[in-house]
Amino acid sequence: MKDWTTGAATMLFQHCRACDAVWYFARDFCPHCGGPAPEQRTGSGRGRVYAVTTVTRAPSPALRALAPYRIALVDMEEGFRAMTHAAEDVAIDDLVQTRFVPFGDLVIPWCKRWERGA
Ligand SMILES: [Zn+2]
Repeated sequence: MKDWTTGAATMLFQHCRACDAVWYFARDFCPHCGGPAPEQRTGSGRGRVYAVTTVTRAPSPALRALAPYRIALVDMEEGFRAMTHAAEDVAIDDLVQTRFVPFGDLVIPWCKRWERGA
């Protein structure tokens, strides 16, 4: 399965069949119980903002041209935490929806406030 790191507009996470743990960074085994062959699942992109900041000193020349930009840590509704870029007005505890937007040469996850019922 492809995700945004390999050009698809989706965010994948992993799930352990043995202990029901979920996590974001792909591994060949469960980081909680060591169980083998975790399954991949597609995230909804919905979650609650745990932390957010503005990057003014970007880590590479390509990103420096795009600074300042916002970065958020989002607790996704499936139970894993992911880093995404964020809209200017996103704040801690906001409910957000992630979509995938161009950023330099990449397509990256970017979240904005989730308007319930809108
Ligand atoms: Zn496990």
